[in-house]
Amino acid sequence: MSTCPVPHTANPELLEHYVKKILAAPVYDLAVRTPLQAAPALSALLGNQVLLKREDLQPTFSFKIRGAYNKLVQLTAEQRARGVVTASAGNHAQGVALAALELGIKARIVMPCSTPQLKVLGVRSRGAEAVLHGESFPFALAHALQLAKTSGCTFVSPFDDPDVIAGQGTVAMEVLRQQQGALDAIFVPVGGGGLIAGVAAYVKYLRPQVRIIGVETEGSSCLLAALRAGERVVLPSVDGFADGTAVAQVGAYGYEICRDWVDEVITVSNDELCSAIKLIYDDTRSITEPSGALAVAGIRRYVERTGTRGQTLVAINSGANINFDSLRHVAERVAAQTAV
Ligand SMILES: *Cc1c(COP(=O)(O)O)cnc(C)c1O
Repeated sequence: MSTCPVPHTANPELLEHYVKKILAAPVYDLAVRTPLQAAPALSALLGNQVLLKREDLQPTFSFKIRGAYNKLVQLTAEQRARGVVTASAGNHAQGVALAALELGIKARIVMPCSTPQLKVLGVRSRGAEAVLHGESFPFALAHALQLAKTSGCTFVSPFDDPDVIAGQGTVAMEVLRQQQGALDAIFVPVGGGGLIAGVAAYVKYLRPQVRIIGVETEGSSCLLAALRAGERVVLPSVDGFADGTAVAQVGAYGYEICRDWVDEVITVSNDELCSAIKLIYDDTRSITEPSGALAVAGIRRYVERTGTRGQTLVAINSGANINFDSLRHVAERVAAQTAV
């Protein structure tokens, strides 16, 4: 957990550049405007008004469809004809597959050999080609980049691309429209930093007093490490429990925004994520994946640490792609914690 005392003297033109891209992003061809929903039990528990931005309700059960579609729709006719390639084991893969299907673009998705069959089928059922390669994500990524080079198709990064960042930023555009009254902070889950970069760019341009707080797991806090070091460091190892955000290095485009416009980064443990999944369930009767519960876990930590009361705090519930079997582990961790 750390406060980043970086003065906001940075380039506002960069924000304006992204705000324009966000406003022009045609994501609603495919994505939906998700509700910003009250969480009464959580609000009572924490003594603050907590609102949940329900990105788990997107067609692919995560916000990734926004960035993927905004990237693919901007491609030239020639690029579209050549197809796209990406590397992902999870939500970005589903987003690219669905966007490519919608636009009639051929998509190849390189996935690590260890990828659960469920996700491989999720890609194939949307008409994309799933290429199984490498034992973990970095190997799959290297292969995808190689394929892009040799085949001339376009590589679609999960987070390190201005069009992807702008697509994800449409989440913030909706939040500011949905909550025109009091709004003190937006808590954003961070993997490679695409979502928080888009959110920070939009919010800091229009309502700079709203705090943007990133949340990472203790085992994959690549944004916090970068902000502390003053450069994009590569984490020596990454914990995979929150698989949607298990990234070793924050993206270059995202970092350019985050270093100046993110107010703070909070880290939480895997057990805190499990508790947050239950808290969200109690209020919504919906299941989130571990990464999808990061923001709520972050709010809880923040309120406990600062003693904040009576504020309006938004959590981006970013996704719901969890294997049904994994719920047993989540429930066991919650039971173990309450038993102590
Ligand atoms: C990708 C993802 C994130 C993080 O987004 P980044 O742009 O990589 O920071 C958070 N939650 C879920 C569910 C995701 O799939």
